[in-house]
Amino acid sequence: MLFMTRSADDMVERLRQVEAEISDLRCEQAVLINELDKINVAGRDGHRSINEWLSAELDVSRASATELVFAGRHLPKNRPINFRLAEGRITFDRAVGLLRLADAGADPSTMEHAESLDLATLGRVTAQQRRVTRRDEREVAAERFVSVQPNLDGSAWRLSGLLGAVDGRIVEAALSERADRMRMLPDGDLATRGQRQADALASIARDSLDGGSDAAGSPGGRVTVLVDLDEANGTGGEEGCRVRYGPRVGPTVLEELLCTGAVQIVGLSGGRPVVTSDAARIIPPAVRSFVAHRDGGCTIAGCTSRYRLGPHHIVPRCEGGTHDPENLTTLCWFHHHVAIHEMGMRIDAGSPPLRRRLTRAPIGPDPP
Ligand SMILES: [Zn+2]
Ligand SMILES: [Zn+2]
Repeated sequence: MLFMTRSADDMVERLRQVEAEISDLRCEQAVLINELDKINVAGRDGHRSINEWLSAELDVSRASATELVFAGRHLPKNRPINFRLAEGRITFDRAVGLLRLADAGADPSTMEHAESLDLATLGRVTAQQRRVTRRDEREVAAERFVSVQPNLDGSAWRLSGLLGAVDGRIVEAALSERADRMRMLPDGDLATRGQRQADALASIARDSLDGGSDAAGSPGGRVTVLVDLDEANGTGGEEGCRVRYGPRVGPTVLEELLCTGAVQIVGLSGGRPVVTSDAARIIPPAVRSFVAHRDGGCTIAGCTSRYRLGPHHIVPRCEGGTHDPENLTTLCWFHHHVAIHEMGMRIDAGSPPLRRRLTRAPIGPDPP
């Protein structure tokens, strides 16, 4: 019942008191840690560092341990901050924040300015104060990496990495420059920045493999996909299509591969290659040239992109669509790869041949 009768002001007041007590206790811990650090208690107990030792000894996070060790080492060296903390005029967290700013080499006017900052801003000001040393740079250089990992069944990939300041900036600039060239969808849907950057990265990588963005969707690119036709025909379970080796693709991706022919597909039956995409699956060069000449650019109404123009099958190959010029229309990379084959939109068959509209197709069933 005691708690029920407390007013909000009382509780806030008590909260402040507790924080002051915690600051007091932290201060005491910092002094103890500094003494223990001097006699190398970590080494005695077989730990590599005092931070590691403290984290294990107190069962606190590495971040808490690092903060306490930092305070232990720096409080004795900074009497004004030490004094104010001991007097209870600043919290332990603010004392550590100010110590870090002083340690980063802030001048007296910056230190004074910092008094009025909240702790988050104080942290940012400190980070900006800090000079990047050769040692920092070497550490980043040594830790640089990019990892491109498929998930367990190979149906998606995860990227992560760490780059140096300049390389990171270059990659970021290249991605946003390419992402900016990706057009908005005709219906006004705008992909998120993350989605556009993902498309940008894939398109830069494709340019690199094909030798430049001018290269027409070159048949038989350097990626080969092996498709088990027995399973694709529905005799091997309900998964529809399993790729034996190489990337595992679903019906949507397979549809795009069949449409562009940019990736060599080897069909397997009974484990033996029975068909490759180079023959029947590729649009004959004469038809390709004719369609390009006929359309003169991306046929989506309002689109002026000239990036990676290529023919698309209006009725998909897997639904019996042919290489007949009537079934082909020229699209830019964005409308072809992203709008149609990634987002699942379709060409509105009723739209005029040179002012094509896209429709949002309901997600169809997987092919049998
Ligand atoms: Zn297509
Ligand atoms: Zn277009």
